[in-house]
Amino acid sequence: MKTKPSVVKVMPPQKDEESIADLMEKLLLKIGEDPERQGLVRTPERADKALRFLTSGYETDVQSIVNGALFEEKCDEMVVVKDIEFYSMCEHHMLPFFGTMHVAYLPNNQLIGLSKIPRIVDMFARRLQLQERLTHQVAETLQEVLKPRGVGVICEARHFCMMMRGVEKQHSGAVTSAMLGAFRARKETRDEFLSLVSHRNHPFY
Ligand SMILES: [Zn+2]
Repeated sequence: MKTKPSVVKVMPPQKDEESIADLMEKLLLKIGEDPERQGLVRTPERADKALRFLTSGYETDVQSIVNGALFEEKCDEMVVVKDIEFYSMCEHHMLPFFGTMHVAYLPNNQLIGLSKIPRIVDMFARRLQLQERLTHQVAETLQEVLKPRGVGVICEARHFCMMMRGVEKQHSGAVTSAMLGAFRARKETRDEFLSLVSHRNHPFY
C-alpha cells in the first residue's frame, strides 16, 4: 500500500517514572561500560537532555511557529531561502544525518516571515526522520500554510549510518527533492530555482 510520505502519527512524549537518563544508564551497562566511572557519572543526564533537544520537534507545531507571520503582499516573484543547515536523526538507526536544505515558493499574494522557514525545517528535523519524508513535510507544510502557486525543496544530506557503519562511505551524500504546484508543472520555474541555489560552495567538500 502506498501512503503519503508525510503521514506520520506523532504521539505525545511519554513521561512516566522511568526517565531517559535511567534508560541511558541501563544502555551503558548493556554495551559493557561502567556507569559509575568518573567520566560517565553524569552522562545519562547529559544524554537525556541532548536527546530531548534533538527530538524537541515532537513538541512543536506549525501554528505556533507561523503565528501571525503571514503578510498580504502583491508579490509573485520566487522567494528562495537557501543553505538552511539542519541536523536530524534517521529513524532506522537513530544516528544523525545532517546537511542543507533549499526552500523556495512562488507567492500567491501572501508571504511568510523568512526566519520562519528555517524554524519549520528544524521542527521536522528534530524528530526521527527519513530524509525523503523530511523534504516532503517541509514542502507540504508551506503549501498548506501559504497556499502559494508552488513550493520547491531540495535537501542534501550525509548519514552517519552510512558513514560510520554498514557501507562506510564517508563521502557519499543523498539528495532528495519535493516539487509542488508550479515547481512540478513548469520546467522554467524548476530551472529558475535550481539556478538560484546552484551558485554556492558545496557544503561537504
Ligand atoms: Zn539510518
